[in-house]
Amino acid sequence: MKALLLIDIQNGFCPGGNLAVPDGDAVVPVANRLIREGGYDVVIASQDWHPSNHGSFASQHPGKKAFDMGELSGQPQVMWPDHCVQGTADADFHPDLDMAEIDHIQQKGENPAVDSYSAFRDNDHAALTGLAAYLKAQQVNELDICGLATDFCVKFSALDARDMLPDVKVRFVSDASRGIDPSGVKTAIDEMRSRGIGIVTSDEILAD
Ligand SMILES: [Zn+2]
Repeated sequence: MKALLLIDIQNGFCPGGNLAVPDGDAVVPVANRLIREGGYDVVIASQDWHPSNHGSFASQHPGKKAFDMGELSGQPQVMWPDHCVQGTADADFHPDLDMAEIDHIQQKGENPAVDSYSAFRDNDHAALTGLAAYLKAQQVNELDICGLATDFCVKFSALDARDMLPDVKVRFVSDASRGIDPSGVKTAIDEMRSRGIGIVTSDEILAD
């Protein structure tokens, strides 16, 4: 079974959002083509879904401002602007994303004490979201991953897919993804490639 995992294609990560990724909304038409024409058996969308007091927010750390480095759950943590707060428009999926074709929504980042870049587990690896079990139950053996942002949630999700689903072929869809920092994107792609993750474009997928 072939699955597509769309990472955090939410208003908060698109232009006008609280943690906008440059050109983030450019992934929406590409994602929609993949959803409709990519031949996937299962389509999953992850959703960053934070309580308003989430510990990744600079606002929760006196003296810190957005994009400073701080600490959360004993690990270095980027202090983010408040973003994707549960029930706000910032947390909604981009309005043009074709939600009718999405089989499963995987929320993440609900525990205020730890961040969850990956759609599979929290950053401290203590708590699983259930996505790996879902994909196993669906007998997924090919998983394409894309979305926002390449250098954070997409990369960590792809690396966790490699670790937690060793029998699944994992690919990163580059043109259906955008990152926060250009040098971080390059490093992320190198790291994914070095871990055995395929790097493909949507055209290559649609031509198959
Ligand atoms: Zn977040």
